[in-house]
Amino acid sequence: KVKKEMNGRLEKKESLLWNAMHRFNPEAEQLVAVKGEGSWFTDESGKRYMDGVSGLWCLNLGHGREEIAEAAAEQMKNLSYFPLTMSHQPAIKLAAKISELLGEEYRTFFANSGSEANETAFKIARQYHNQTGNPQKYKIISRYRAYHGSTLGALSATAQANRRVKYDPTVPGFLHVYPPYSYRSIFNGSAEESDLKAAQLLEEMINWEGEETIAAFIMEPFISGGGVIIPSMKYIQRVSEICKQHNILLIMDEVVSGYGRTGKMFGFQQAAGVQPDMVTMAKGLTSGYLPLGATAVKSEIYDVFQKDGKDSHFRHVSTYGGHPAACAVALKNIEIIENENIIERVNNLAQSKLAELHQLIDHKNVGEVRQTGFLLGIEMVEDKESKTPLADEKLAKIIGLCKEKGLIIGKNGDTVPGHNNVIIAAPPLTSTEEDLDFLIDTLQSAIRSL
Ligand code: PMP
Repeated sequence: KVKKEMNGRLEKKESLLWNAMHRFNPEAEQLVAVKGEGSWFTDESGKRYMDGVSGLWCLNLGHGREEIAEAAAEQMKNLSYFPLTMSHQPAIKLAAKISELLGEEYRTFFANSGSEANETAFKIARQYHNQTGNPQKYKIISRYRAYHGSTLGALSATAQANRRVKYDPTVPGFLHVYPPYSYRSIFNGSAEESDLKAAQLLEEMINWEGEETIAAFIMEPFISGGGVIIPSMKYIQRVSEICKQHNILLIMDEVVSGYGRTGKMFGFQQAAGVQPDMVTMAKGLTSGYLPLGATAVKSEIYDVFQKDGKDSHFRHVSTYGGHPAACAVALKNIEIIENENIIERVNNLAQSKLAELHQLIDHKNVGEVRQTGFLLGIEMVEDKESKTPLADEKLAKIIGLCKEKGLIIGKNGDTVPGHNNVIIAAPPLTSTEEDLDFLIDTLQSAIRSL
């Protein structure tokens, strides 16, 4: 009887899968992917779509790279699993590679996801201060609009109220500060001046809370899930200085921006002179081929965990964190990014192709077009003067039109009702010029149809 019911459900396409956001994202409904190829995938009916958002901004190298699949298979045949309470070669090699890419000596703790990488960073920050004579330094500051993950600690740093409200109380000790969102800033002046005021607010907050209570500040170089916000590089530099001055660890969340997405290996590397205390990563680290998260920690911080014998060690374990096959995949992924000059490619095509989307600024419903590399956000408004966010139905229409024509794009912003009004495009970094032309033409004509 159960089997019959199941078959009936499958015929009606009523899967028993509980997938995130599904019901509230009608444009994604019933899309069952079966095969991927480059920047494209095919659904059950045989229709092809270009993935204009790289899955959830993670498919940096696109689908179907056999070398990556082979690296995973080889590793699984040699050593299928081994815990990182001991170690294995792929993890050792990958930690060394990450340190090289970060340009300074970092130790890396592996996890399975971006959320978990951030959780790890928070625990390291609290324990670090505890062991350096500042046990009262426990608070963690993030910015409004930020998304740092779904688990309770990472969710507490995720400062979009509606994502948290039904799960309160979240973890104590998380504070949120005004973001460098110059398009809707409360400050007058240029975008840079407004961003620097946002940095000043961080400093005010630290002073009012008492620097002796703040452990860490977590930020993405470019807020991605909260509406693709591209601050002035001076903001990142200023915030980094403020953290240093107040003995606050700077955690850079590179889960989205890492591994070439913004035209640098890591997004923060756009801001000269900035070297975060910790860098968290996932998604592009493996281009999504296998789950892997990582928390890279400056060696001088790591050293504090080695000092007084047993009591100082980091009491944190992840059974699958740094799975050998995932590390092998990450190594192959990075090798391809380097050998195929993917970063140079991103910089060239971001300018010669994707930048065409800036022409949309002449449309009455486009408030701002924001771009860094292959990360694009188009802030949609009812009109440019009031900046009222474009109505949800109109946004759904644009996304629906793109989908009809075979292009998947997304929208995000804030979870405040009506403020989810930024259209995002983040295609695989290996998209061909024809793929990018298709994305640009389809998106432009959908927006211009308004
Ligand atoms: N940080 C950022 C900036 C993210 O965008 C995400 C996921 N969208 C995460 C952390 C959490 O990553 P995961 O979903 O792998 O836990």
